[in-house]
Amino acid sequence: MNPTPQPTQATRTFLAETQPLFIDGRAYVPNGEAITAAARNPADGNVIGQFYLGGPADVDIAVAAARNALIQRRWTGLTPSARAQALWRVAELIDRDAEVLAELETLEAGKLLKAARQGDLVISAESFRYHSGWCTKLNGETLAPTLASSTEYHCYTRHEPVGVVALIVPWNGALSMTCWKLAPALAAGCAVVIKPPEQASLAVLKLARLLQEAGIPDGVVNVVTGSGSTVGDALVRHPGVNKVSFTGSSATGRRIIAAAAHSNLKRLTLELGGKSAALVFADADLEQAAAGVCGGIFGNAGQVCVASSRLYVEARIFEEFTERVAARAQQLRVGPGMDPNSEMGPVISESHLANIDLKVTRGRGEGATVLAGGRRAVREGSFYEPTVIADVSRDSGVLREEIFGPVLCALPFESEAEAVAAANDTEYPLAGSVWTRDVSRAHRVASAIEAGLLWVNDHGRPDVAIPFGGFRQSGWGREHGRESVESYTELKSIMVRL
Ligand code: NAP
Ligand code: MG
Repeated sequence: MNPTPQPTQATRTFLAETQPLFIDGRAYVPNGEAITAAARNPADGNVIGQFYLGGPADVDIAVAAARNALIQRRWTGLTPSARAQALWRVAELIDRDAEVLAELETLEAGKLLKAARQGDLVISAESFRYHSGWCTKLNGETLAPTLASSTEYHCYTRHEPVGVVALIVPWNGALSMTCWKLAPALAAGCAVVIKPPEQASLAVLKLARLLQEAGIPDGVVNVVTGSGSTVGDALVRHPGVNKVSFTGSSATGRRIIAAAAHSNLKRLTLELGGKSAALVFADADLEQAAAGVCGGIFGNAGQVCVASSRLYVEARIFEEFTERVAARAQQLRVGPGMDPNSEMGPVISESHLANIDLKVTRGRGEGATVLAGGRRAVREGSFYEPTVIADVSRDSGVLREEIFGPVLCALPFESEAEAVAAANDTEYPLAGSVWTRDVSRAHRVASAIEAGLLWVNDHGRPDVAIPFGGFRQSGWGREHGRESVESYTELKSIMVRL
C-alpha cells in the first residue's frame, strides 16, 4: 500500500504558523490569555495546525472595525469599476493559491482533494468573478406614481448596502460557502465579519490574506474564529450587526432567529438542513440515474445540504435499480481525501460518525433492510461505509431527519402522483431531482415538487448564477444570482415633488 501523499510545501509552511484572526486589515491575536485550538484531520485524527480563538470582546472590535470602514466609505467610496476589479482580483488569487486552499479543505474537513480542486475551488473563484459584474449593475428603477402624474413627481429606487453583515458557515464547505456569501455582500457594498466553523477555519483564514492582497480596504472584511456558542452567538446578538447570513443546521437557525428577535431585528438569510428527494422513473437512463443518485448522496460522504438522501423509484424497476445503487455503494473506495485513489472520504468527526450510526441502527430496529454498508468502515479514521437502506416506513427517523452522512433510503412508488406526494412529505425540502426521458413529465414533476432547486437528470450541481435556497424549514432567502446580491441591500424609494 502506498503512503498517503503529503501536502505541498506551501501548505506545510502555512500550517506551521498558529493562524491569527483578521481584523481591520491586520493579523490579530486576541489580548490577554491567547487561546488556541487544534485543527484535526478526520481521516486519521492527527493535528494538522493551530489557530487562535476569539471571544465576544474580539467580536466587538471586529464589528467596530467593519462599522468604521462603512462610515469612512473605504469600500463604497471607490468607483463600482474599482470594486469590480478588486473582486475579480480575489478570484485570480484564489486560482493562484487553489492548491493550498484545496489541501487545507481536504486536511481539515476530509474532502477528496480532487473534489475540492474541481468543485469547491472552482466555484469559490467563480463566485467572485460572477459578483464582480454586479458591482457595476446594481441599479434601481424609475417608477411612475399612481395618484400623481410623472410631471408632478419623479420616483425612483436605490439598492443601498444593508450595513455590517455577519457571515456564519458550516464545515462541510467552509471556503465555498464563505465565498457564496462574501462576494455578493461585497458587491452590494457591505462590510463583513466572518465566523468560520471551528472544525474548518484554516482555509477561511487563508482567504482573508488574499482579500487583503487583492486590495479590499482595511476593515471591510474581518474574520473572528471561535465557537458557535461564543463568537457566533455574540455576532447574532450584536446591535451593530445589520444582517446575518447563516448556513448550517435548522436547530442553530432557530437560535439565530430568536437572537435576532431579541436584539435589533437584524435581517436574516438562513440556509438550513435538507432531506432532498431523487425521483427515478422507469423510462430514465438507469445507468446515468444510478451514477447521479450515488454522486448526490456519497459525494463529500453525504455531508452536503442538497444530498439525495431519499430515493423514490418506480416500483417495476425498484429491485433492479436499488441493486445497481447498492453495487456502486459497495464498490466505492473509502479513504483519505489526500489519496488520489479514494472515492469517498471520512465524515467530519467521531461524534458525527456516532450520530450517523445511531440513526442507521434505529432504522434497522424499526425493520429497515440494509442493502449496502450500515456500519463504520474497518480502517483508521472517521469513515462510514456508503449505506443504502430499504423497507423504511414513512414515519421512521432515517427517512424524516437529516442524517448528513452517506446514508440513502430507497422506497418504491406506483404512480407519478404518489411519487410527488412522497417527495413533498418532508419538512426539509431544500432540493430534489427528477430522472426521466419524458420531457413533459420532467417539467410537470419539477413544478409539482416543493423545493428550492430542482435538477432534471442530474443532482447536486451548484451554480452561482442560479438562485438556491430552501422551502419550509430548509431556510429563508436565496443565495446566488441577483436575488443573493439584492439580499445584502435595503431598497430605498425616493419621491421627488417637482
Ligand atoms: P451548525 O452546527 O448549525 O453550525 C453552523 C455554523 O454555525 C458553525 O459555524 C457553528 O459554529 C455556528 N454556530 C453554532 N451555534 C451557533 C449559535 N448559537 N449562534 C451562532 N452560530 C452558531 O451546522 P453544522 O453541523 O456545522 O453543519 C451541518 C448543517 O449545515 C446541516 O444541517 C446541513 O444541512 C447544513 N447546511 C445547509 C446548507 C444549505 O445551503 N442549506 C449548506 C450546507 C450545510 P461552530 O461550528 O464553530 O460551533
Ligand atoms: Mg455543529
